[in-house]
This record gives sequence, C-alpha cells and structure tokens, in this order.
Amino acid sequence: MNYYSLNHKAPNTTFKDAVVKGLAPDKGLYFPESITPLPASFFENIDTLSYTDIAFEALQQFVSPDIPKDVLKTIIAETLSFEFPVVKLNDNISTLELFHGPTMAFKDVGARFMARCLGYFNKDNTNQVTVLVATSGDTGGAVANGFLGVKGVNVVILYPSGKVSDIQEKQLTTLGQNIKALEVDGVFDDCQDMVKRAFLDDTLTSKMQLTSANSINVARWLPQLLYFMFAYKQLHKTQKEIVFSVPSGNFGNVCAGMMAQQLGLPIKHFIASNNQNNVVTNYLKTELYTPKRSVQTISNAMDVGNPSNFIRIQEIYKNNFSALKENLSSFSFTDEETKVALKEIYDTYNYVADPHGAVGYLGCKSYLKVHPKAHCVFLETAHPTKFLDVVEDVIKEKQALPPQIEAVMDKTKVATKISDYDGLKAFLLQ
Ligand SMILES: *Cc1c(COP(=O)(O)O)cnc(C)c1O
Repeated sequence: MNYYSLNHKAPNTTFKDAVVKGLAPDKGLYFPESITPLPASFFENIDTLSYTDIAFEALQQFVSPDIPKDVLKTIIAETLSFEFPVVKLNDNISTLELFHGPTMAFKDVGARFMARCLGYFNKDNTNQVTVLVATSGDTGGAVANGFLGVKGVNVVILYPSGKVSDIQEKQLTTLGQNIKALEVDGVFDDCQDMVKRAFLDDTLTSKMQLTSANSINVARWLPQLLYFMFAYKQLHKTQKEIVFSVPSGNFGNVCAGMMAQQLGLPIKHFIASNNQNNVVTNYLKTELYTPKRSVQTISNAMDVGNPSNFIRIQEIYKNNFSALKENLSSFSFTDEETKVALKEIYDTYNYVADPHGAVGYLGCKSYLKVHPKAHCVFLETAHPTKFLDVVEDVIKEKQALPPQIEAVMDKTKVATKISDYDGLKAFLLQ
C-alpha cells in the first residue's frame, strides 16, 4: 500500500516510509491510496475467526509488501496479547473495554503495533530513530511501554506539567532505558506545537531521524480499527443496529472506526463524545471549524483544541458535510455532567467507568433519545483507577489497584523540565 499526503504537496510513499517519517515532508498527514473492502464472507463468518485472524485480514493491505505476512502475524500476536470484552449494561447500551493492556489505556494496541513495525524496519539499521511524542495523558505511558527496549529507537515524551494524573505521570516517567520524559510548563497543545515545530526544524532533522508516535502516525492509527471489529464479533448475533460512541480527543480512534466501516464493517453510525473541548461538536452544528486552545477537564486525554485526525475524517467523506453528518454525531459534556454519569453508571449498573468512558456513555444516551432502537457501544478507553481521585470521589468507594498500576506506583519519577521550544531543541541536540 502506498500513502499520500493530505496536503498533496509531497510524493506518495510506502508504508515503511510513512511510519518512519510520521508526517509527510509537506507536513500533511498520510492517508492510504486505496481501501479495498473485505469480502462479505469475512463479516458473515467473523464468529469463526480469532482476533489475530481478524487483525491479519484487516491490516494486511495497509502494510504489504513492506511487512511480510509471517512478520505481520508475529507482530499481531505480540500486540494483541490481552482481552477486548464487551460488557452489556442494558438492552441498548454496552461498553467495549479497551483497558486490559499493559498501561490500561486503549492506546496500548497502536503503540505496541507501531513499535514492532519500527523495530522490524530498523532491524539491520544502525541509525537511531527518535520518536517524539506529545501526550495529554495516556499516549505517553502506552508509547513508553510499547517502545521500551526496542533496538535503535529513542523515545522522547512531552507532557503538560500538572495536567496528567499521578498514575499517568508515573507510567511515562519511570521506565528509564530508551525512554525520556520532558515535563512542559504549558498545556497539551503547547506540547503538540513543539513536536510539530521540531519536525519542521532543519537543524534538527539534518542531524537525526525524527518520527511521531501520535495517532498522526499511520502505524499508531490504523490498528485501532480492530476494536470495532472485535466488538462486532461479540455483538452482531444479538444486535442489528450497532452504533459506537467514541470518547474523542485527537479523533484518531473514531476515524479508525470509520476505516473499519470503509472495509465493510456494518456500523450504523458514530458518535464523537467530547468534553468541553468541542470543536467538532460545534462544527457539526455550524459547519464552521474553529480550533481553540484546549481547556483542562477531568477527562484529560481528550483535552485537545485542534484535533489532528479530523482532516482524515474529512478525507474519508470527501469533504462532503452532509455525508459526514449522516455518519457522525457529536455531543459535548461538562465535568459536572460527567461526574453525574459516573455515579449513575455505578448506581444503576454496578459498573465503574472512568471519566472518558462516562463521556462516551453520555453520548450514547443523547443519541438513543432520538434513535431508541439502536444498540450503542461506548468505548471504555482507560481503566477507572487511572483517574483514581475523580472516580473514588464520585462513587465513594475505594478501588483496588490492578497489578499493572500497582507496579509503577512506587517507582521514582525522572523528568526534565522545559518551558519552550528552545528547551526541547537543546535537549534533543545534547
Ligand atoms: C487518547 C484517549 C482518548 C482520545 O482518543 P483520540 O483517538 O485522541 O480521539 C480518549 N480516552 C482516553 C483514555 C485516551 O487515552
């Protein structure tokens, strides 16, 4: 598969090159040249397929010929080494738990897949690749964990000081080895801007190969389409009208769901559920796309003021506003509403959600008011104990820490403080 730049001012290139570069030379996001739907029999027989079979069939076209079949099989087997259960709350609402990976965030799958692709591409290469990544919370930990010990790859993570949870901070600052954390005096958008600026900076790019492990990287973004297939496998016998509510920040996850739909997965509709960072909610209302500086919320992994993957969504629907609206709804909710939802989910269904999942649940409720026959699956994108303060405060019950979280709690944070782009540049050049 070749990829083109959404800025249309750079040559088309291979999967390998798209992964190694992250962003095209014209600063556009890469997008696959074609999408060939899977045969109808694939979806009809999905029950008989394992998760790794599904992943192989779905991802092969996007990575061949750069990743040979046997290597892809190994990468998939190593990436998907945990569960993706659907839990039914009532006849109309289920949740897809995406938090059973090593850092308990849905980003584990994309990060592990990308790390292994990059490791494979780099296997005979003595040149180092530096992965630069900005995180609003969960990306950092998932990327740190996924890339830990990968030969030839250094990882530099930028996170906004004081704006990630304690557990998230531990997950991205305590690993050591090839993983370095930079604590930025600013918000997530500042971190993201610095990363973008570094990619444009010739004095850096002439000295080192930089790449991105945010969902702008196709190897991070595309494997997320599997979640929607895994949920479909579990639900399609009993539910006919499946819609997904995706708690959204950079819009990589919901956009990956749309790629699954392009592959033929019978998904009726998507709901992008937002916190008060609601550029897309407003866009669908007004047709005006107005990026804003992000505001801090209790669902911090979605505190994004200018979602980088929205341009890919526009590409999928060929910039046709009414086609987009037919497939995507968006609602936005306050922290107060999110807390009430957390409590409601606990009291009514005896289920402990995290704040991001709770926003997704609210998206389901809003959609179901108008479409009462649908079955809405909200994505539980992080384990509730990653947001311990909020969750325990709302449901008034102590939560036991899972072993993955317990393991990082006593480790010592190591991070370098920076306050501006010069700080980042000096760090990278040292
Ligand atoms: C990253 C993240 C999101 C947002 O996902 P996008 O693909 O950026 O829209 C939602 N919830 C959690 C817990 C996350 O870590």
